[in-house]
Amino acid sequence: MSSATVTTAPPELIAKYEPVIGLEVHVQLATNTKIFCGCATSFGAPPNTNVCPVCLGLPGALPVLNRRAVEMAIKASLALHCTVNPVSRFARKNYFYPDLPKGYQISQYDQPVAEHGWVEIEVENQPKKRIGITRVHMEDDAGKSAHEGFRDSDRYTYVDLNRSGTPLIEIVTEPDIRSSDEAYAFLTQLKQVLQYILVSTCDMEKGHLRCDANVSVRLKGAEKFGTKAEVKNLNSFRFLKQALEYEISRQVALIESGGRVMQETRLFNPDTGETAGMRSKEHAHDYRYFPEPDLVPLRISDEWMQSICSEMVELPADRRARFINEYGLREYDAEVLTAERDLSDYFEAVAKASGDPRAAANWVMGDLMGALKAGGKSIFDSPVSAGALGELIALIGKGEISGKLAKDIFEKMIATGDSAPVIMEREGLKQISDAAALEKIVDDVIAANPKQVEQFRGGKTTVMGFFVGQVMKASRGQANPAAVNDILKRKL
Ligand code: ADP
Ligand code: ZN
Ligand code: MG
Repeated sequence: MSSATVTTAPPELIAKYEPVIGLEVHVQLATNTKIFCGCATSFGAPPNTNVCPVCLGLPGALPVLNRRAVEMAIKASLALHCTVNPVSRFARKNYFYPDLPKGYQISQYDQPVAEHGWVEIEVENQPKKRIGITRVHMEDDAGKSAHEGFRDSDRYTYVDLNRSGTPLIEIVTEPDIRSSDEAYAFLTQLKQVLQYILVSTCDMEKGHLRCDANVSVRLKGAEKFGTKAEVKNLNSFRFLKQALEYEISRQVALIESGGRVMQETRLFNPDTGETAGMRSKEHAHDYRYFPEPDLVPLRISDEWMQSICSEMVELPADRRARFINEYGLREYDAEVLTAERDLSDYFEAVAKASGDPRAAANWVMGDLMGALKAGGKSIFDSPVSAGALGELIALIGKGEISGKLAKDIFEKMIATGDSAPVIMEREGLKQISDAAALEKIVDDVIAANPKQVEQFRGGKTTVMGFFVGQVMKASRGQANPAAVNDILKRKL
């Protein structure tokens, strides 16, 4: 049966099958300069300005390995729980393409920088699961071809080599992924952890994170994997999910109608949401891999490894666990507060400054994030520093301001960037704890509400709340609530 007649399968047929997915993810390392030369990696420079003989592939130009790129590749490998190989080797991967001036990519082949890791994922209503990482290897990126956008684009393709030689790592997973949701969760975790350790911005729009998916299906209960197709051009999370769902459905429909999945490379088309055959699968021997003669093997000494390890920050999953154990946060709160490194650093500083981590979590997740969102700001440019928010929360804890007054002060902190004490001083917002002043307010409230006084004395103690409310109102929220309670009880 020709694949042209096959479309997609209905859910009840798809349910008979189990998808098997392995991802190959390319991540641009956040170095300032390229992997084998000193050219800048900056995005958006005029075409062909960040280039030199090395990244232009001019004859005789020799590569020099960027130390920072190696360190970032190793940090990524450690974060993915991989074993780092003390010796790895670069290899030439030969192919012809106009945006590849050398005629080969410098990659790693049989001796990658790291192997055998895992990433833990969690999909709703399912137990946590580990996805195996087969390998992490380093390589250089190609340039970019521009097929469109020029007056003579019908006749010419333009090439921009600014990206040529940008450092990448490729992360290959085991075929452990069983659904598009798991694939989505994996990529989310991967992105989070790599951003966290500052090895990549993982900005998919800029191509800093690119993902290819290998997909096959097999009847549920079957042991043997089906034939896989490799789907390319998945440059957003949504496209990854969409492409996987389409491809799974296509393969099921094909098999159910008596056809066979072909081992091939397919291209996802975001306009149609479909994948289409691009070329038959290339094999390793097509690339004529051989050891790169211009680079010595990469040796990671114990000392170098130790210094890289010492620069590693706590991983988000570890931090999440610590926030729960050390600060008594709820699992959900710990999840939210470790989603980004800036946010977790901020929270932790507030927790320390306030001495009340749970209150800190509530303020950061509620008031602060709400205010930042409303102002279109990120935690990075928050007008209220972590120290200032911690100070505000500590004032509540010490009973110096009420929760209500704290909210008002917080709004002013967001608007002005001033600290709580500065605002309280300027606006005369000091909490009134002075007994004489409070007694005066209480007396006025009691005098103004004889009916409620009668009710209270008649045994209706719930009117107490009414009196406290009236006193707080009369004091513009500045009365010390604990002191007000005491005085009211005494006077009533
Ligand atoms: P190839 O030799 O075709 O490159 P590899 O074995 O190197 O295949 O695997 C490449 C990627 O494809 C890996 O991410 C791997 O997990 C995944 N993969 C391998 N076999 C299958 C399969 N039958 N179905 C889905 N994914 C697979
Ligand atoms: Zn260069
Ligand atoms: Mg392979």
